[in-house]
Amino acid sequence: MKVTINDDCISCGLCAEICPEVFEMPDEGIAIVKVEVVPAWLEDKVKEACESCPTESIVIE
Ligand code: SF4
Repeated sequence: MKVTINDDCISCGLCAEICPEVFEMPDEGIAIVKVEVVPAWLEDKVKEACESCPTESIVIE
C-alpha cells in the first residue's frame, strides 16, 4: 500500500493523531507521509485515517 496527501488538506492533524507512524504534521503546511510504502501492520490505521480525514485528502493506492 502507498499513500499520499493531496492539496485539499486543511492541516487539521487528525491523520497524525490516528497513525503517527505514517503521518506527520509539520509546524507549517499540510500533513506529510513519512514512509514510501505502508507496512502491512499499519494498513488498518492508515485506512482509518483516510476515512476520518475531513477533506478526503488521503489517497491510498
Ligand atoms: S486528516 Fe486530512 S485534512 Fe487533516 S491533516 Fe490529515 S490529510 Fe490533512
